[in-house]
Amino acid sequence: FQLNMEDLERGDELGRGNYGTVTKVLHTPTGVTMALKEIRLELDNAKLNAIIMELDVLHRAASSSHIVDFYGAFFVEACVYYCMEYMDGGSLDKLVNFSFGETVPALHPTPEGESELVWQGVPEDVLARIAGSTVKGLKFLKDELGIIHRDVKPTNVLINNRGQIKLCDFGVSGQLEKSIAKTNIGCQTYMAPERISGEHQNTVGTYTVSSDVWSLGLSIIEIAIGRYPYPPEAYSNILAQLKTIIQDDAPALPADRYSPEACEWVASCLVKAPDGRATYAELLEHEFIRRDEAKAGAEGGDEVDMAGWYRTALEFKEAKTAHTQALAAAALAPPV
Ligand code: ADP
Repeated sequence: FQLNMEDLERGDELGRGNYGTVTKVLHTPTGVTMALKEIRLELDNAKLNAIIMELDVLHRAASSSHIVDFYGAFFVEACVYYCMEYMDGGSLDKLVNFSFGETVPALHPTPEGESELVWQGVPEDVLARIAGSTVKGLKFLKDELGIIHRDVKPTNVLINNRGQIKLCDFGVSGQLEKSIAKTNIGCQTYMAPERISGEHQNTVGTYTVSSDVWSLGLSIIEIAIGRYPYPPEAYSNILAQLKTIIQDDAPALPADRYSPEACEWVASCLVKAPDGRATYAELLEHEFIRRDEAKAGAEGGDEVDMAGWYRTALEFKEAKTAHTQALAAAALAPPV
């Protein structure tokens, strides 16, 4: 069916990216809740149809369970509107951005009668599921659609209440990329060293699939530790940050919380020389992911309770939001 603005009823804003906003919408004719992404373009009418044609490839991405469903796209004035599957858990960057061991007052009494919630981080089996799903999504894009993602980061890894992990926001349309009015380049980069220094630009056409593997490794560490892996000094200033990525050792998973296999898997993504990085096939064959697949296919059903973990994370996030708001309100209250 053809989507258009008249059939969409706007709900809450879900987030703001570098290029535009994402809003929850209801498609009234079908009753389907969708996420509507608005991308502001540098106006160029001649290119609009080329973009729509390029976006059409997304309908084929719907056959992967690791990629968000695409419902359609349309233009209004200088914006392209893109309708996709609504993922109620949002992106992982906002769900797990807490430090290990951090505590907040509980919103509801816990079964153990504790008054505080303690953030236990992302357990290894959950991290393995996230990593495996992401690699499968990336491999599908590459093998089936010939697409290199180009923007792998925790903001583009979404979760829903069933605990499913899906990728969004991949560079399907060259025309669209060229026409986007970029407002800022963000303060944290997931760019691989070779993209920063530009060495490989002539030989492989600016971007190779292994650049996505680097961004994947960095994203998995960020999800595990709850913050961007490079030290804060490195991202107060974008140039200092780029220099750090090129010159310093790559970050690693905390070895005291994750198995040697998990650490090795991430390290194989974060090899500085692009040719030395693991391929998707190698990442999938690795023990870290194989163990996860064995759990997913266990006789008694999936042994990794992703939906349960999602609820735990959401509860912590909501308790922390309430606590932060209470502190802010107390700070504003007149002194007695
Ligand atoms: P960016 O441009 O930085 O990649 P996006 O514009 O893609 O960011 O998304 C901004 C925010 O909107 C994300 O952080 C995420 O929380 C939310 N979002 C994006 N897509 C969806 C979706 N399909 N369902 C629910 N939330 C989404």
